[in-house]
Amino acid sequence: MVEQNIRIQADQLAIWLIIIGDKVVQLIHQPGYLKSAWQDLSFVHAYQEQIVKIGDYEDHACFLIDMGNEQIDSDAIELISLRSILMQVEKPFFGIAARAWQVALFMRTHRFCGQCGTTMQQIDWEMAMHCSRCNHRCYPRISPCIIVAIRHKNKLLLAQGKPHQSRQMYSTLAGFVESGETLEEAVHREVMEEVGVKVTNLRYFDSQPWPFPHSLMVGFLADFAGGDIVVDGHEIIDAQWFDIDALPLTPPTLSIAGQLIQRTIEEIKQDQSS
Ligand SMILES: [Zn+2]
Repeated sequence: MVEQNIRIQADQLAIWLIIIGDKVVQLIHQPGYLKSAWQDLSFVHAYQEQIVKIGDYEDHACFLIDMGNEQIDSDAIELISLRSILMQVEKPFFGIAARAWQVALFMRTHRFCGQCGTTMQQIDWEMAMHCSRCNHRCYPRISPCIIVAIRHKNKLLLAQGKPHQSRQMYSTLAGFVESGETLEEAVHREVMEEVGVKVTNLRYFDSQPWPFPHSLMVGFLADFAGGDIVVDGHEIIDAQWFDIDALPLTPPTLSIAGQLIQRTIEEIKQDQSS
């Protein structure tokens, strides 16, 4: 997956995911990902030893450089959020940007062994940090998280989470899988905890890495099986059954939440026309 000890060809175009603090470097006048030859990125040349290869995209190698909290004084670049980058790129690049971000976060948070406190070293044949004193080894953290669209006849159950309150946005339900739990058990538990209803007929839909900070969203479609909506009041502040002709503001289809909503609308329309 990730190669280290790489050689950079100075004049060859590559894609660079350069992270400073919690922002990504973007060239002014070049929205989306940063495509450039190494020789033209003088502000980052001091970090050559820290380049990590993340993958390939459209015949270009993609490299990560984490500059920590370095301050850069340059008119040629600006710092933008990962979310803004993801809004500007196509879906295949989404995974590469997500991986770069998660690898950077992993390296930052695994400098010392969690077992004995010794400084960890990066392994050069796989993405892992290793403790040479006690042999403890760590891999980038991935947190599985279920996300589910619930349908009842011509309606969709959508909820407003606290982070979406200011924009009045409603979305599908989602929650982290707990230790020892199957994905399906997580769906049933989360839906019951957050809105107090039962679901049935779970169908796997798709998955999406979601690097905020290290989730893997596992999407399901489900049918309502009973119960009245009772929101938990902590994570969810409102939930309602929405007719597909009167939907509130929902997430864009770039996110799996938006895709789940879109698919449910299509299925309802298909049933209405048949
Ligand atoms: Zn150790």
